[in-house]
Amino acid sequence: IIFRDYISGFPKESDMIPTTDTIRLKVPEGSNSVLLKNLYLSCDPYMRGRMTNVDSYIAPFTPGLPVMGYGVAKVIDSGNPNYNEGDYVWGITGWEQYSLLENPEPLTLVKIKYTYLPLSYYTGILGMPGITAYVGFHEIASPKKGEFVFVSAASGAVGQLVGQFAKLMGCYVVGCAGSKEKVDLLKNKFGFDDAFNYKEEHDLVAPLKRYFPEGIDIYFENVGGKMLDAVLANMKLHGRIAACGMISQYNLEESEGVRNNFLIITKRIRMEGFLVFDHLHDYPKFIEVMKQYITEEKIVYVEDTVEGLENAPAALIGLFTGRNVGKQVVVVSRE
Ligand code: NDP
Repeated sequence: IIFRDYISGFPKESDMIPTTDTIRLKVPEGSNSVLLKNLYLSCDPYMRGRMTNVDSYIAPFTPGLPVMGYGVAKVIDSGNPNYNEGDYVWGITGWEQYSLLENPEPLTLVKIKYTYLPLSYYTGILGMPGITAYVGFHEIASPKKGEFVFVSAASGAVGQLVGQFAKLMGCYVVGCAGSKEKVDLLKNKFGFDDAFNYKEEHDLVAPLKRYFPEGIDIYFENVGGKMLDAVLANMKLHGRIAACGMISQYNLEESEGVRNNFLIITKRIRMEGFLVFDHLHDYPKFIEVMKQYITEEKIVYVEDTVEGLENAPAALIGLFTGRNVGKQVVVVSRE
């Protein structure tokens, strides 16, 4: 899938072009490269940022080259001492059937230790979104038992995990999402104490007042814009906001202003942004905890799976309309 050219506004399927080409299924003699057969690809909101030619924490895509993103793959040839033929890995790969990666590093291409867990989980709960939810909630939000937690985009890859971590910590958790099906999932599958469909509310301040009559201690921010404004109006004194993402702003030419930002001062709120890329060194610790949670069924997980590499562009775009129910995964090949 080739990235066509830089865009503004909402991404379209035609910005990503399916194409065919042939490559030699062998790494070049004497190189440090790894040849991967891609199995599962991850659709992640941050990928939208790479479609615009601006300086950011991650370089933009290169027009004419494949879209790059997180995925799970099998090593089919290697000239690199860190990887052997037959290894399963997760990390940054290409939106293509086979990828030749030059000089991959253990932090960006991680060898999968527990291959008995579903391999697609390494695009989500056991991969980048999982560690985002874990670090964002436990380290950035500094939660305590009994606190009142609100999560936006709560049924997605990150949100569904944050809600469950908060329940394990003994917090009261409410989530919002954009459909009845998602709200039902939050309440009946992920164990949120309550949930609402933000698309059915005219004024976002009112539902938050209803669910948090005493105010919000922790807001796990995935959405930004109007939602952030409404949350600020409902935060408690000394509340914390873990600023993980602001998906409502990613396709706007100019981001919306936050009218209530002065409340950050008057309520002495600590709002802290974070990037998972700064926390990848914690992965070995994280995977041990998550493996345990999954095998003991303390955490459940929902994926939205699309079959076929050619359907990846539509799946990525769907993140911005809320089409995905759970973590969006694209299956390229199951083995
Ligand atoms: P999700 O699986 O939650 O998918 C995105 C969801 O966002 C959609 O399903 C939709 O759900 C919601 N959404 C889309 N547009 C809007 C909008 N305009 N207003 C409100 N909600 C919207 O994605 P992830 O869990 O992968 O990511 C969640 C957030 O975390 C994103 O903001 C992402 O950028 C951020 N992130 C940050 C990282 C970091 O290092 N800081 C790392 C990974 C993710 P709905 O139907 O509920 O509207």
